[in-house]
Amino acid sequence: MDNFEGLTAVVTGSASGIGRALAVKAASEGMNVCIADMNSSALEILADELKAKGVNVYAQKLDVSSSESVKSFAAECFSRFNTVELLFNNAGILSLGCAWEQSVEDWERLLSINVMGVVNGINAFLPAMVEAEKAAHIVNTGSVGSLVAAAGMAQYTASKMAVRGITECLSVELQLQQAPIGVSLLCPGPVATNIAEGVITRALGDDASAEMIAEAKAATVAGDPNFITPDVCAELVFSAIRDNKFW
Ligand code: NAD
Repeated sequence: MDNFEGLTAVVTGSASGIGRALAVKAASEGMNVCIADMNSSALEILADELKAKGVNVYAQKLDVSSSESVKSFAAECFSRFNTVELLFNNAGILSLGCAWEQSVEDWERLLSINVMGVVNGINAFLPAMVEAEKAAHIVNTGSVGSLVAAAGMAQYTASKMAVRGITECLSVELQLQQAPIGVSLLCPGPVATNIAEGVITRALGDDASAEMIAEAKAATVAGDPNFITPDVCAELVFSAIRDNKFW
């Protein structure tokens, strides 16, 4: 896929961070954009911003852990734009803490969003994408945690390793069917978003002042070479799709 003009992108978790940047990038490439997030007020702000630039936008408040909601979102996207060429299953949350200290409810909540959210996106969108027989690409947001484990992140690591497994199986299955649909796993390191800020806040401890937190947050972009901005992340994703350079 090297020209996105007039095609349609779907991005979950698009009210902030990486998802927002992916939606803005898709719009800047001339795509129609379908955006969905639990945070309806931030989603509306993005929708208005894109509409003001003349972009065709469909926005829906959505909890990706609900298969029915994702199905109705997909139905609306297809009825408005007919086909979907880029699907970003991106919504995700982070939880920190030792595995044995986290409740079953916490495990279920995180897995229902980070794992089932991706499954629900695939189930809702893929059949029509396959039927369309058009070139398309699905990008599931994993993490560096899809590749290596980190202490204090058992739930997150388990979820992102599961997303890697789902992505790799789906990729092979689509190749066996000779469907013209690429499937990729995005494995970012630290990106300066709310999720990363949550890690910083936690690392500073409960006694951290508002100034200390603000300073640490600012340093993640300006001073820490390990961090990239969501915009840079989105640029890299689009150039990888364009040049077929996902591994
Ligand atoms: P973010 O918090 O800025 O964005 C996540 C978005 O997902 C938010 O807008 C949130 O409202 C939405 N969301 C959460 N639960 C949802 C649900 N049930 N249904 C619909 N929307 C929901 O954080 P981000 O860093 O942009 O995260 C995006 C993805 O990137 C996540 O999957 C995250 O795990 C992954 N990631 C982030 C980093 C990082 O350093 N920021 C690194 C690796 C992977």
